[in-house]
Amino acid sequence: MSMDFTDKGINTKVTHAGENPDTIHGSVGVPIYQTSTFKFQDADHGARLFGGEEKGYIYTRIGNPTTNTFEEAVALLEHGYGGIATASGMAAVASVYMTYLGNGIHMVGTDAVYGSSRMIIENDFSRFGVESTFVDTADLEKVRQAMQPNTKLLYIETPANPTIKLTDISACAEIAHSHGALLVVDNTFMSPILQNPLELGADVVLHSITKYINGHTDVVGGVIITKTAEEFDKIKSMVNGLGGIMDPHQSWLVLRGMRTLSLRVQRGEENARTLAAYLETHPKIEWVRYPGLASHPQHELATRQMKGFGSMISFEVKGGIANGKTVLNNLKIPQLAVSLGGYESLIQHPASMTHANIPEADRKAAGITDGLIRFAVGTEDVEDLQADLAQALALI
Ligand SMILES: *Cc1c(COP(=O)(O)O)cnc(C)c1O
Repeated sequence: MSMDFTDKGINTKVTHAGENPDTIHGSVGVPIYQTSTFKFQDADHGARLFGGEEKGYIYTRIGNPTTNTFEEAVALLEHGYGGIATASGMAAVASVYMTYLGNGIHMVGTDAVYGSSRMIIENDFSRFGVESTFVDTADLEKVRQAMQPNTKLLYIETPANPTIKLTDISACAEIAHSHGALLVVDNTFMSPILQNPLELGADVVLHSITKYINGHTDVVGGVIITKTAEEFDKIKSMVNGLGGIMDPHQSWLVLRGMRTLSLRVQRGEENARTLAAYLETHPKIEWVRYPGLASHPQHELATRQMKGFGSMISFEVKGGIANGKTVLNNLKIPQLAVSLGGYESLIQHPASMTHANIPEADRKAAGITDGLIRFAVGTEDVEDLQADLAQALALI
């Protein structure tokens, strides 16, 4: 029997959560059950497993001990009923969409969500009769106005990417529920350490594990966590049917990465606070957006619904992207690459990179200006990062 860590602190949970399935050798590290299928003890045992009368493993697409350890651990961190690991963050998003959307069903989403989370709705699910309205969910009046009698899903991302605008999770839960819809939150940017949407009224939370949870820039993965058994069963059945599962080796890697999640998140946040404050006073910076700055328009909401401000900063250099490129091309420590949440600092230009597939008018309307630079702050020494920014900005 594994210990119950439900009432323990977040660092203890991150370190220990999830049952180690090795009952034979007592290995401390979780074994990789690299198998596609599992042997039944006899014919009746197989029938009982398939009939759901007995718990056990049948086939890795349906469940695997290594993957299950990771799923249990993440569900505990998010205060959920259960977790469902997927091959990528987008497999998690698409599986949730497939579970709840259909012909004549409407969803409301944050306008500045992860690019593909919006594009697959507008370009692909629309072909199957799914209707959608993407609005600035930081403005609750706009959310209320977008809800329709056939709205079944309110899908938000907070902080939004890359505008760092926040959405009030509790208020959105109320709006969704009063319309008979579910609230789904993409919690990738905060990780389960800094924000727990299920505690604030959300029904489903998902993560791109590729980012903070794995944290080592070497695996792509996703996870969905539900508040109730009912939603868990629906989504689990869809993931099983679609097949976008996480494989056992991938699960082992992300579990290994996750054991240091709270250390990495805390260090990244300390660095980001210092750098955001530094950039804000720099004469060559036009603006900085970081939830931990008093100048962030929703700083009060950040303090209320987040347990920390994260390590994502957006800023614009004076002179727009022409000067911004000088900074991007001359930084020595942050690497010019998309993605975030790894141990190392990464920097990129959303209008020409992550968000280039969004039509220009929609991009502008969502507040993604051509000069916006997105900085994913890593766990390096902050003095080195600051000195690096200083030398690159001095070249303008
Ligand atoms: C990266 C990301 C995704 C997509 O995840 P993948 O693992 O790349 O498929 C979804 N949402 C957010 C907020 C992300 O940053």
